Amino acid sequence: MVMTDFAVSENDDRDRGGPAQPLLTVNGLKKHFAIRGGVLGRVKAHVRAVDGISFTVRKGETLGIVGESGCGKSTVARLLMRLIPPDAGEQIFDGEAVGEPRGITVAEMRRQVQMVFQDSASSLNPRMPVQNSIAFGPIAFGAKEAEAIGMARELLVKVGLNPALFGGRYPHELSGGQKQRVNIARALAMKPRMIILDEAVSALDKSIEAQVLNLLQALKRDLNLTYVFISHDLGVVRWISDRVMVMYLGEVVEIGPADQLYNNPKHPYTRALLASRPALDPDHRREEAPVSGDPPNPINPPSGCRFHTRCPNAEAVCSLKAPVLMQHDADTHAAACHMEDPTSGHTQAVRPQGMQH
Ligand code: SF4
Repeated sequence: MVMTDFAVSENDDRDRGGPAQPLLTVNGLKKHFAIRGGVLGRVKAHVRAVDGISFTVRKGETLGIVGESGCGKSTVARLLMRLIPPDAGEQIFDGEAVGEPRGITVAEMRRQVQMVFQDSASSLNPRMPVQNSIAFGPIAFGAKEAEAIGMARELLVKVGLNPALFGGRYPHELSGGQKQRVNIARALAMKPRMIILDEAVSALDKSIEAQVLNLLQALKRDLNLTYVFISHDLGVVRWISDRVMVMYLGEVVEIGPADQLYNNPKHPYTRALLASRPALDPDHRREEAPVSGDPPNPINPPSGCRFHTRCPNAEAVCSLKAPVLMQHDADTHAAACHMEDPTSGHTQAVRPQGMQH
């Protein structure tokens, strides 16, 4: 039998808690990389790549993750797939703790969560026709070869490639955009519920990037998928995301619905990032200064608010005390900044309702 139903139907029997239960909940996720040195290779310091972050991803949404390079966003992707083990934190997939005795195994989670990387070439086996690369995962999980190849060819159609033309080609015979379409097909072959896209369109020309983004949107709609979309490109993230999470030096500094976050950014870092974008529309130029300088070293991040060394609103309290991200639920637009906390002592802090500045 050829597997033709790629849709994760609304009655997907893997759905445990219904639409109200988040597909993914992350609590206190942490990863510090040891730096060794000297003759004995002793640990000399730690890079605090991801430093205790929490967020949820709802069923059917796209959560965008943005930040400068080195902010920890790609480490988050690798942690979510357990390509690297976390130092601390809890990961709950559709109500089940990942890797816990009474939860879901890492192997089963990986069947339901697939990943597409930026480097489309190195993700494919150069000695394998692309239809075999797509069929590889299902065959590893017990599908018969002919059946899996048939499914791979149907998936090529789904990602906009004619299987008669492209199925037997090798990766070096494809363009970057075509290779990325094959990688998307390869991810779909495992019938995932969630796909993590890590800079998946960043290496493509702008026109090809737009085509692949449109394809991703269409696939998400048709197959009831959920995306985590990681990119340094704020414009692309806004276009594709329902909600956006901004990271700075291993921490979440702002999270909220995409329109609210882009139209009314609360965190000075988000404002500076948005101001750093080229202003194509003169009517929408921003007043804020663009973010200046390089991010501080994540080996020894600044005390208190990690952004205080670059923040135009920094006051004494900012280097003394770390601000807390107060997000009451997934719909909340929240920022980790003392100006958002009426009790922080920052002179520009929001006042409780009814109080005047
Ligand atoms: Fe700037 Fe202080 Fe807010 Fe940090 S807490 S973003 S330094 S105002």
